[in-house]
Amino acid sequence: MRMNPSDLSALDRAICGEVWASDAIARNLETLCLQCGGRFAGSEAYRRAAEMVADWWRGYGLSDVRLEPFPCVAWERGGASLAMTAPAERAYPCLALPYAPACDLAGEMLDLGYGAEADFAAAGDAVAGKIVLTRSGAAAGQRPMHRLEKYIRARQAGALAFIFADDQPGMLAPTGSLALDQDGALDQALPSVGIAQEVGLELARWARGNGQVRLHLRLDNRLWRGESWNVIGELPAADPTAPLILVGGHLDGHDIAQAAIDNASGVAAVTEVGRVLAGLRAGSGRPLIEPMSCGVRFICFGVEELGMVGSYAYAAAHEAEMDRIRFFFNLDCVAAGSRLGLNLQNCSELAPLFRSLGVELAAELDVVEHLVPFSDHLPFTLAGVPAAFIVTTGDRAAGRGWGHTAADTLDKVNIASVRLAAAGVGRLVARLASGQTEWPGRRRTPDEVKTALQASGAEPLLRLLAAWPF
Ligand SMILES: [Zn+2]
Repeated sequence: MRMNPSDLSALDRAICGEVWASDAIARNLETLCLQCGGRFAGSEAYRRAAEMVADWWRGYGLSDVRLEPFPCVAWERGGASLAMTAPAERAYPCLALPYAPACDLAGEMLDLGYGAEADFAAAGDAVAGKIVLTRSGAAAGQRPMHRLEKYIRARQAGALAFIFADDQPGMLAPTGSLALDQDGALDQALPSVGIAQEVGLELARWARGNGQVRLHLRLDNRLWRGESWNVIGELPAADPTAPLILVGGHLDGHDIAQAAIDNASGVAAVTEVGRVLAGLRAGSGRPLIEPMSCGVRFICFGVEELGMVGSYAYAAAHEAEMDRIRFFFNLDCVAAGSRLGLNLQNCSELAPLFRSLGVELAAELDVVEHLVPFSDHLPFTLAGVPAAFIVTTGDRAAGRGWGHTAADTLDKVNIASVRLAAAGVGRLVARLASGQTEWPGRRRTPDEVKTALQASGAEPLLRLLAAWPF
């Protein structure tokens, strides 16, 4: 059964009207950030946030709302101090990187610039036993590198400790987790800290001018085997075997901030899509999205920031349902920008469909095909499930921006961007769920997934992370 254009227009008006006229997004975002702070994995605040989101979803009319538990290695930040003991005595502010164990160590610093493969190769055996300094980013014209690539190279080369400097001015130290085999020893990671760009540049100057820089690093972090939860809620189709559309984003954030951009913004948008679509169901007196030919499942993932542990756990626990998933909209950082970006993950056959829907919606929608080997869609992409990494774009580029620093606070979130994401994704989901469009998408075979990851250049990073499944 297809809706006629006037029904569609009524549906769009209802969704946009509800998203733009309601204060739900702003209210939920503020409540989450003020009441639960950064919602760090393993913390009491995360548990409170998960229950808060579940309560919202029940109140908005989603069904079978539940918290699905999974094991994870939890970590708690203690004191951290970094000091230069030679050639001069200086103390520097630093942030332990999550999963760094406690330590009290002294050693010689080795500045490896951006920490590219070639930098480590050139240093050779000199890396062993050193406190390796690298900075965020890559040299001009070079492939962008994730923090973890630099960290894993340092660890593999036998470094004593790892220091990661930010790439933007402002005396903000970055955080960001280390790679951890969740089944391995708790203290397997290198002692590691983030430092501000200015501190990194000063240390590099000392090393250039005076040869040997000696550092003393002390960390009092705590690790333990804990538990976390994915929050799940449903807008079911009448047929329980109908295909599923997933709308999700990670609820956990970093402990040093409100984690407002990354990713309270995504949680607020996912929640808004649920609120508005639940209100459009039969009997609500509003334009209908019945009959639904697909169920819609809403998910807030836990422990994304420590290695997508929640989304991997979900994919493992729901493996038997993977064939039913038609598409996954993963909303991660939808807090700035006047355009909605759909990064299709290995499902190029859907690009024409989403481009034509963008025209139909008269929405500022950019459909790009760019495989991103991090965030919660990755376990689904590895399983061959079509997905989009949803971001907002179009404003002044700011590198990684405020995310992963203490400045990721509510005041940085542009509520209009969150509304844009909620309305855009809501309208797309309503069309897909009500059978408005032919669906050309299909699940990929493992061989096709492997080929696509190789073509995208993601293989080296996934191999370094021991996340290469082939
Ligand atoms: Zn994120």
